[in-house]
Amino acid sequence: MDDTGVTHDYYAKSMEPVRASHAPLMKFFANSGYLERFGDPDCLFLAMGDPHEIPPPGYVEAIAAELEPRSGNWFAYKTSTRPAREAVAASLKDWRAMEFRPEDIAITTGAFGALAAAMTALIDPGDEVIINQPPWFNYDNMALARGGVPVYVRVKEDFDLDLDAIEAAITAKTRLIIVNSPNNPTGRVYPPATLKALAALLEEASKRNGRTIYQISDEPYARLIFDGKSFPSPASFYPNSLITYSYGKVLLTPGQRIGWLALPPAMEEARRNALNEAIMLAQIVNGFLFPNAIMQYALPALDKLSIDVEGLQAKRDFLLTGLREAGYDVPTPEGTFYLLPKSPIEDDELFCARLAARNLYVLPGSVCHIPGRFRIAFTAPMETLEKALPIFAEVMDEIRAESGA
Ligand code: PMP
Repeated sequence: MDDTGVTHDYYAKSMEPVRASHAPLMKFFANSGYLERFGDPDCLFLAMGDPHEIPPPGYVEAIAAELEPRSGNWFAYKTSTRPAREAVAASLKDWRAMEFRPEDIAITTGAFGALAAAMTALIDPGDEVIINQPPWFNYDNMALARGGVPVYVRVKEDFDLDLDAIEAAITAKTRLIIVNSPNNPTGRVYPPATLKALAALLEEASKRNGRTIYQISDEPYARLIFDGKSFPSPASFYPNSLITYSYGKVLLTPGQRIGWLALPPAMEEARRNALNEAIMLAQIVNGFLFPNAIMQYALPALDKLSIDVEGLQAKRDFLLTGLREAGYDVPTPEGTFYLLPKSPIEDDELFCARLAARNLYVLPGSVCHIPGRFRIAFTAPMETLEKALPIFAEVMDEIRAESGA
């Protein structure tokens, strides 16, 4: 045994911290019965942002239209294809009124692939990666797998970024900060004033350090915004940003891997050129993180599709009203497809186990570094949510009766 606690030589010692950081999610899967029961029609699955229904109209047609080879190299190796890059650049121009160069857009296997490529391209061993807490539960694993050191900074009570805490967390070793808006799990969309102040703070700290601090703006939920609000991208405020995006959320098809990584036009051109090469190499050395040829051919059509966001908002509102009537304390998410209510008992894992005993699965907040809350994914059909609500109410009543309230 050595100082990592590893007593065997089965796999690399460097996997140990990754395992440790992944353990809460694995524990949830192992102990809750989630994996064995997944798909059981008697159970209601609201733990993960998975699809429950067939994809939006046009999705299958867009892919099917590309199946038949139209040339001898139809299925040749594909890095980021020019038409896919151009389609994303054109889409960003319409959407964000910004002129991205097609060559500054890498086509990736979802946001996962974009994040992996970005982190491999940016992180040297020992570099610190600032992660706003509660985070998506893979940022730290992915940083650790690349020799990075996660540094957690808790968000404020209202789930906005805590700029003073971020400033205090920056050291000479800080290489990047991950900002995820709309945020999984809090549902928060960070306001322009916060993003502007964050950018000023990062500029200043980069100057002081004599080394650029990058911002990864992880935006897979950027098109899932409620109440007709607009989406201020963190990358619009800070030039040294890398945007990571996935079609897996807006189309609810995460098993079909496609997304992109984009460098904003405000980034110095020489830096963009150098980074583009590093990102492409990072995609290769991580195991060819380019989407399959067919998904790249289909991208221009896929980019125009979406799940029904109004329908998604109706689900959010249905749950918000019902849960609040039942006595739950639930903040209103501005985007994503997650709710993050307070657990009515302190131990969120125990609370989730009580729901699971009634065949209702949600995710304990402790898995997302926010113990005392639980996460509901509302990607399920309305009928599933209608069945879930009385169970939430029943468990709340039971807990109130137990505490004599
Ligand atoms: N970032 C965040 C914040 C996410 O929630 C997810 C998926 N849950 C990803 C990245 C990865 O997205 P994908 O699997 O579509 O690549």
